Amino acid sequence: MDPLFQPVAALKGIGEKRGQALAKLDIHTPYELLYHIPRSYFDYREPIALSEAKLGNTCVIRIQIVRKLPPQYIRKNMTIFKAVATDGIMDVTIILYNNPYGFRALQEGTWYRMAGKLQGNLLRREMASPHILPDTSKQQILPNYPLTSGITSRIIIQAVRQAIQIMKERPFDWMPETMRQEHRLLHLWEALEQAHFPSDMEHMEAARRRLAFDELLQLQLGMMMRRAENRTKTAYRMIPNTMMEDFYASLPFTMTDGQHSAVEEILRDLCSNFPMNRLLQGDVGSGKTVVAAAACCFAAKNQMQSALMAPTEILATQHYQTLQTLLEPLGISVGLLTGSIRAKEKRAVYETLKSGELDVVVGTHAIFQKDVTFRKLALVITDEQHRFGVAQRAMLADKGGFPHKLVMSATPIPRTLALMIYGDLDISVLRELPKGRMPIKTYAVTGKLRQRAYGFIIKQLELGHQGYIVCPMIDERDESELQAVCSYAESVQKGAFAAYRVGLLHGKMKAVEKEQVMEAFRAHNLDLLVSTTVIEVGVDVPNATILLIENAERFGLSQLHQLRGRVGRGNAQSYCILMTDHVTDDCRARMQIMSRTTDGFAIAEADLQLRGPGDFFGEKQHGLPPLKIADLSHDTQLLHEVQETAKKILKKDPALQQKENRGLYIEVMRLFQQENENGRN
Ligand code: ADP
Ligand code: MG
Repeated sequence: MDPLFQPVAALKGIGEKRGQALAKLDIHTPYELLYHIPRSYFDYREPIALSEAKLGNTCVIRIQIVRKLPPQYIRKNMTIFKAVATDGIMDVTIILYNNPYGFRALQEGTWYRMAGKLQGNLLRREMASPHILPDTSKQQILPNYPLTSGITSRIIIQAVRQAIQIMKERPFDWMPETMRQEHRLLHLWEALEQAHFPSDMEHMEAARRRLAFDELLQLQLGMMMRRAENRTKTAYRMIPNTMMEDFYASLPFTMTDGQHSAVEEILRDLCSNFPMNRLLQGDVGSGKTVVAAAACCFAAKNQMQSALMAPTEILATQHYQTLQTLLEPLGISVGLLTGSIRAKEKRAVYETLKSGELDVVVGTHAIFQKDVTFRKLALVITDEQHRFGVAQRAMLADKGGFPHKLVMSATPIPRTLALMIYGDLDISVLRELPKGRMPIKTYAVTGKLRQRAYGFIIKQLELGHQGYIVCPMIDERDESELQAVCSYAESVQKGAFAAYRVGLLHGKMKAVEKEQVMEAFRAHNLDLLVSTTVIEVGVDVPNATILLIENAERFGLSQLHQLRGRVGRGNAQSYCILMTDHVTDDCRARMQIMSRTTDGFAIAEADLQLRGPGDFFGEKQHGLPPLKIADLSHDTQLLHEVQETAKKILKKDPALQQKENRGLYIEVMRLFQQENENGRN
């Protein structure tokens, strides 16, 4: 067997026990060890003088051991080793806890470089548990690894050196030489060596670039192959000249150009030989629902069934009502399936789905329960898909045949990234909002202005409009937070808004209760809705023109944008008031951005900069395999190169079956196998 793929325990200094500890870091072979890339590095190249080092800071010093002191036995399992050292001008005490080996290795009179936190006071300086390097060491930049108990840096370093040696003896590289040169990349073995033991910063960057290239390329190839595979399946094929005039004619508005072209793209897909796999992207309020309705209408006219799946019951019910209004007059039947509808009604829906009587079903993931069978499910639409668990999407797969899939999302993602994240999807974008919309006016105020803010809300209510007050709840299970929201609603109903009808909506309410409140609000039997973030996604009441967000500092930009999208859905001027007494720079920056722009793209980008990619592209949102090296938000240039390369490779060898792509094929499979374990369908 190739020694790179033997059990890691076979390496010198590892053995069974440490092998098991390494398994906790997901390292089973020397090969996997090579991909245990350091988190950061200790750079010993430029030590500073003790007199210049700031107390409390981590720094690198160059010192000579003057005298080793006798060990102090404090108690069982606690021995302290100390040595006095000097940098030629000042002294420092080096302290090691329970580390007789490390202490024994230190030689009086010898020079070392040490990295650690400098502590003590002006007269006496100490450095405890430093990372130690002989002054004469050739390797001056050392890796800082993620560790686990029983595994020290030293153990990993020694094992990695052996693994690199194995690799060097039989250097293998899946990448053809021409490709490597074209993209100015290091050899794989060299990149791995430099990633662990860089000779300087340039090499470290070059190593990272090569490894990130590999990672992105494998990911992109996997996504593109998945898309190609989709095209080998036979779809439910619909008829291109299906009449849609009655649908367009019955709409209460004319569709925007964006909506028109999205519908065209979708209908074209529905008439093709292979199943559609399309993402419909559009900012909050851009009108995605009517596009979905058009697709369902088209399918129904082709005697096929569709399902529209929403992440919450509130949203499912709302979509149900929208589709019912739009489609039933055209003779298309629409049903609702959620967890909380009565068993009898549920059974009726089940039966009509099975017989084919029901054309469209709207619901939560209850749609995809085991006992639901369709006669001919040809189209599946999911709304606000990033809210969906992977499992739900998987369930969808086995309702028979290969239905066309449409996912709708308000998360704005730049195109290159979308290509990577949704590489297996085609994309339609709604760029503009429906005509006549005025940008929402947003103001950030402190609690001192609360009475004026309430007065402002009352003005809107007096004009016959409705409003929301959003109170954050960090933890929907927290009783005291729940209490706070309830008493807030009570106090405004008795106080400032005594003359109006105030409703309350929160996540702990039963689905039926929630629906009753939403229904009352929709029917304008309530003027003001005090709510937690359960209204965050999708809720659509165009008559609502004012939204006040309490403790606005608790929300991220994207969430504020989603919340704000609850107003500005009709033709009247809408307002958003962000209430916060928080005065950190970060919070101020967010409030300013919100006041300045209503453009979802700009806000997403600002969010990316303020919070970093970790949150924005959290794995949960996009369901990609975890990236170890590449950084989707910063490696844009590399991403371009990779996408071009991936296209070229697949053009010549669509299934990666040629000999020169064999190594690449294995890597892609490896990556996507991990992904499957992580659960994406
Ligand atoms: P989102 O993209 O956020 O899901 P919706 O589909 O809920 O947006 O649409 C928001 C509101 O805009 C709805 O009240 C809808 O009826 C209305 N709407 C959609 N398209 C148009 C249009 N072309 N002209 C006017 N109003 C529209
Ligand atoms: Mg929506």
